[in-house]
Amino acid sequence: QIQFADDMQEFTKFPTKTGRRSLSRSISQSSTDSYSSAASYTDSSDDEVSPREKQQTNSKGSSNFCVKNIKQAEFGRREIEIAEQDMSALISLRKRAQGEKPLAGAKIVGCTHITAQTAVLIETLCALGAQCRWSACNIYSTQNEVAAALAEAGVAVFAWKGESEDDFWWCIDRCVNVDGWQANMILDDGGDLTHWVYKKYPSVFKKIRGIVEESVTGVHRLYQLSKAGKLCVPAMNVNDSVTKQKFDNLYCCRESILDGLKRTTDVMFGGKQVVVCGYGEVGKGCCAALKALGAIVYVTEIDPICALQACMDGFRVVKLSEVIRQVDVVITCTGNKNVVTREHLDRMKNSCIVCNMGHSNTEIDVTSLRMPELTWERVRSQVDHVIWPDGKRVVLLAEGRLLNLSCSTVPTFVLSITATTQALALIELYNAPEGRYKQDVYLLPKKMDEYVASLHLPSFDAHLTELTDDQAKYLGLNKNGPFKPNYYRY
Ligand code: NAD
Repeated sequence: QIQFADDMQEFTKFPTKTGRRSLSRSISQSSTDSYSSAASYTDSSDDEVSPREKQQTNSKGSSNFCVKNIKQAEFGRREIEIAEQDMSALISLRKRAQGEKPLAGAKIVGCTHITAQTAVLIETLCALGAQCRWSACNIYSTQNEVAAALAEAGVAVFAWKGESEDDFWWCIDRCVNVDGWQANMILDDGGDLTHWVYKKYPSVFKKIRGIVEESVTGVHRLYQLSKAGKLCVPAMNVNDSVTKQKFDNLYCCRESILDGLKRTTDVMFGGKQVVVCGYGEVGKGCCAALKALGAIVYVTEIDPICALQACMDGFRVVKLSEVIRQVDVVITCTGNKNVVTREHLDRMKNSCIVCNMGHSNTEIDVTSLRMPELTWERVRSQVDHVIWPDGKRVVLLAEGRLLNLSCSTVPTFVLSITATTQALALIELYNAPEGRYKQDVYLLPKKMDEYVASLHLPSFDAHLTELTDDQAKYLGLNKNGPFKPNYYRY
C-alpha cells in the first residue's frame, strides 16, 4: 500500500447525516444541476447526428469511446494543459507515486462532469496505473473537445454535451457493461452510476473494492443504502472532507457571487444595500466579498450562533421583512425553502436583484411569480425581469437556481482540491488491507485532508513551520500530524 510521506490513518467513520438535496427518481438532480467548471467552447449544434450513430476512431485505430467529434481532440488537449497549470497538486501526485503505481490493476468506472479539470484527474489515475471508463454525470456540462482529447489519449469515454436522458443511461451502461472488462472501483458524482450498477449489474459488486462519492446527493444515497443494510462495499464520502467544504462553500462562493452578479447585471456594489439570507459557509463567503467592495450588507439568520458571528464580523442582523423595501440585492444561502416568499417579492423596490446561492431552486418561491398578473421578460440569458401591474420590475437571476452554477465558472484551483481528494480516496480504498473498511460510508481521515492541503501549498510558495520535538510533546501531537482533533472546526 502506498504511503505518502507519512502514514495514513484508518478512516474515521462519518456519523449518519441527512443530505440536504432531495433525490429524484429517474435522472438525478446532479445530472442537470451540479457543479461543473466551464461550458464547452465548441458548439454542440455543429451537426445534428447523434454521436451514437457515428463511426469514429482515434489516431491509433481504437473506437472504444463515444464523443461528439474526435477531430476536436487537439483543441481539448490545450484546454487540459491550461487546467494542469492550476492543478499542480495532481501533477505532483503523479510524480510522487509514479514509481509505485498505486493503482496498478485498478479498473475504475467513473461518472463525473467531463471537463478539462476532470481530464487532469482521469489522466492522473491512468498515470498511477489504473484503467478508466468514464461517462458524464451531467447532460449539459461535458466539454466536447476535452472528451475528444481523452478518447484520443485512449480513455474509454462516453459523453457529449446535450445528451438525452436515454443517452445518459446508455453512456453509463457502455462503461459498466463490457465484455472482458470488469470494474473494481467506482468514482461517482451524484450516485447515478452506483444506482445503475445496483439496479442492472449487482454481481459487479463482488469485484468492487470501493465507491468514492463526491456529491451531497450521492452521499445521501449511500447513507440510505447503508442504513437499509444494502451497501455491499465500503464507500468514501469526499463531499464532507474539510478541505472540500471550506473551498467549495466558503472560498469558491466568495469569488463566484461577484462574478455571477457582474456577468448578469453589470451591477456596481459600492454603497449598494444587500441582504444575505443565511450566514453559514456560503453566506460568510458572499458577505465577505460584498463588504470588500463597499456594499452595505445585512444578514438574516435563524441560528443564534451564526447570527452572533455575523454581528462580530460587522454585519447588521435583521429580519428579511425589516429591510426588504430598501435593499438593492437579495441573496439566499440557507439550504432551506421559501426563504424569499411572494410577500417579500411584492414589497421589493423597483430593480431589486434577487438570486440564490444555496439549495437548488427552493429558496426563492419562484412558482408564486408565475401568475397571470405578472409579466416575465427575458432580458439576457439567465436574467428575467418580472413586471408587476404598476410597472415595478424585479430582476430574477437564473430563475432562482444556483447563481454561480448557472452564470459563472468554478475556479480550477477549487476543483483541484476535490480531484486530489478523490484520487487519494481511490488509492486508499483500492490498497486497503482486507477488513480495514467494512460495508459502510467513511469520511476522509484528517491526515488525508491535511495531505491534500499540503500538496496545494507549493502553489503559493507557502512555508510550513515544523513542530520541534519539545513542542510536539507539549501539545501531545505527532510531528507529522494530524494536527487537529476530529471535532476541530477550522
Ligand atoms: P450551512 O448550513 O453552513 O449554512 C446555512 C445557514 O442558513 C445556516 O447557518 C442556517 O442557520 C441558516 N438558515 C437556515 N434557514 C434559514 C432561514 N429561513 N433564514 C435565514 N437563515 C437560515 O450551509 P452552507 O455550507 O453555507 O450551504 C448553504 C447551501 O448552499 C446548501 O444548500 C449547499 O448545498 C449550497 N452550496 C452552494 C454552493 C454554490 O456554489 N453555490 C457551494 C456549496 C454549497
